Amino acid sequence: MGDELKIIVELQHAIDELNTAEELLAGIPDWMQELHEEHSRQKAEMDGLQAALEEAELAKRTADGEISDLQAKVKHFQEQIGMVRNQREYGALLQEIDTAKEQISAVEERELAAMEQGDEAQRLLDERQDPFQELDERYQQELQKWEGQKPEVARRAEELRQQVKELEGKIPKQILAMFERTRLRYGGNALARVMEVERKGPKIWHCGVCNYRVRPQTVVSIQAKNIESCDSCRRILYIEEDAG
Ligand SMILES: [Zn+2]
Repeated sequence: MGDELKIIVELQHAIDELNTAEELLAGIPDWMQELHEEHSRQKAEMDGLQAALEEAELAKRTADGEISDLQAKVKHFQEQIGMVRNQREYGALLQEIDTAKEQISAVEERELAAMEQGDEAQRLLDERQDPFQELDERYQQELQKWEGQKPEVARRAEELRQQVKELEGKIPKQILAMFERTRLRYGGNALARVMEVERKGPKIWHCGVCNYRVRPQTVVSIQAKNIESCDSCRRILYIEEDAG
């Protein structure tokens, strides 16, 4: 019996480290996480204000257009007043003019509200521009620093990939398949450390993950370099070297 268990433990560690490195490469390192979140928050806020400003400007332009149309309508009606043939037509025309003027007032109110919203968005944008720019510069610097560190992390990831391949090659197929199955089943970690219960009297061991009792003969078997699984959770058991 070779020391396959030792290789499996090494393999699990290499896979764990590789996953951490790959996650890191795909995301943001811990040391700039806080800045990243603050930057994202403020950036979203600035984008929101910019969008509100643009929306207000669009609303104002739309209102301007509507007002011109309505004013043209009023002018048209007023020009018709000289051509009415009776009181009924005159009354109808005045009614049309009143309605159009009321519509103009309503649009003007809407326009005023849009302008106020636009002014407020502009005021907040001006107020936050400098602090945001300062934050953004700091963020870009940190990003650059992280870009500088990435190649080293990528190099280490490549090294680990090779190591994983090598270690996998050293384990018999059947055991490797069992390891993979267990690993996938348990969200990436196939192993459970055997823990010794601290107490007086005969030694007692338990599974470090599910706490189920590990029989003494299982511990002896593991020490004899056999692959053993926890009776309860089926993870592959190992004993930490220096813990004996
Ligand atoms: Zn267990």
